[in-house]
Amino acid sequence: TGLCVSLKRHVSSSPSGLQSCMSAWVLDQYGTNEVLRFTEDHPVPVINSASEVMIKVHAASLNPLDLSMRGGYGAKMLKLRRDPMSVMNDGSEFPLVLGRDVSGVVVDCGSEVTHFAPGDEVWAAVPPWKQGSLAEFVTLTEYEVSLKPKILSHTEAASIPYVANTALSALVNAGGLCRDSSSNKRVLIAGGSGGVGTFSIQLLKAWGAHVTVTCSQNAEGLVRGLGADEVVDYTAEDAAEQLEMMEKFDVILDNVGGETEEWATHLLKTWSGAKYVTLVSPLLLSTDSMGLLDGTVHAGFTLHNKAIQNIVSGGVFYRWGFFAPDGPALDEVSKLVDAGKILPVVEAQFPFTQVPQAFQKLEEGHARGKTVVRVA
Ligand code: NDP
Repeated sequence: TGLCVSLKRHVSSSPSGLQSCMSAWVLDQYGTNEVLRFTEDHPVPVINSASEVMIKVHAASLNPLDLSMRGGYGAKMLKLRRDPMSVMNDGSEFPLVLGRDVSGVVVDCGSEVTHFAPGDEVWAAVPPWKQGSLAEFVTLTEYEVSLKPKILSHTEAASIPYVANTALSALVNAGGLCRDSSSNKRVLIAGGSGGVGTFSIQLLKAWGAHVTVTCSQNAEGLVRGLGADEVVDYTAEDAAEQLEMMEKFDVILDNVGGETEEWATHLLKTWSGAKYVTLVSPLLLSTDSMGLLDGTVHAGFTLHNKAIQNIVSGGVFYRWGFFAPDGPALDEVSKLVDAGKILPVVEAQFPFTQVPQAFQKLEEGHARGKTVVRVA
């Protein structure tokens, strides 16, 4: 294509002499699985700033966000973040590449990159406002990238970054926990068997917390194997009573949302700084349906009202948790992986030719860890 030819001129002057076009799975519009299109002519994401790192993708993984974004979720907010000038321009984000995790090898670095060099094996979570990892190459800023744990294969490594950055952001920034303050804390993870849950159990156990998990009965073995101290089958008739009988919690991480929020906040210790953190907030749904300004204001009011209500009724903090890209945080996770304290939980693997099948798997729900795509 013309675009690829012009990029070829740019790229061929780079020291690595990279190709100008690459294979990728792209969207040209939002929709169901049929909108996923394989191409060998997608422009390579060249380095545009001195702090960027270009990575050859060896493996990627899928997250529920990929499914939602395939259908247009968050489009308005993400477009604003990508390019504020194009927010009114319909379709400017296409062709869009999904995929939020990468494990791969650095092939090129901007002039101010200090921590990485071509040949380094790295892992990273790709922010949703950037072109994703279901492609041969992805370009990120140095701050988003980290050296991959040596003991993991690329396939294993790709299962961790996005859920790790999400869990750390939620538990540390919103939940107020950290490595040195968790040993006397009781934490409840609602939805322990999926990507975020299986990572969070291991992280919190590595930090010494007491971890209770809700999940389906057939996931009990998995979450106990990862270290969960107590497990409640949320489908059991007496699940609510089981949870009510337990000692109250310091922090709840809610990976489920919906009705969970109604009963979970009552399980927190009152008037002692306990925090409820949900990853399922209505922010992007609001901006999609009401527009950027009205949606943000509406979500802000919702958060404010819930926060006030929870403080007044029991002295507990109500918070929304969000993914945040953070390479240095992945450096810390890497140490825990190398120490054998965090294991990758890969439920399914697909070759690059079968990305639609990988989406299909995700769409079926009931994740037990992560679905990974082998790209190279
Ligand atoms: P997954 O799809 O990997 O896992 C969800 C898990 O929850 C599955 O194992 C499912 O298994 C289980 N589950 C479903 N219903 C319940 C229930 N009522 N009680 C307990 N467990 C349940 O999702 P992730 O772990 O990757 O993400 C969790 C949520 O967090 C998603 O909604 C995701 O969109 C959101 N998220 C938000 C982010 C943010 O920035 N705000 C970032 C990352 C994730 P089963 O159905 O068999 O019980």
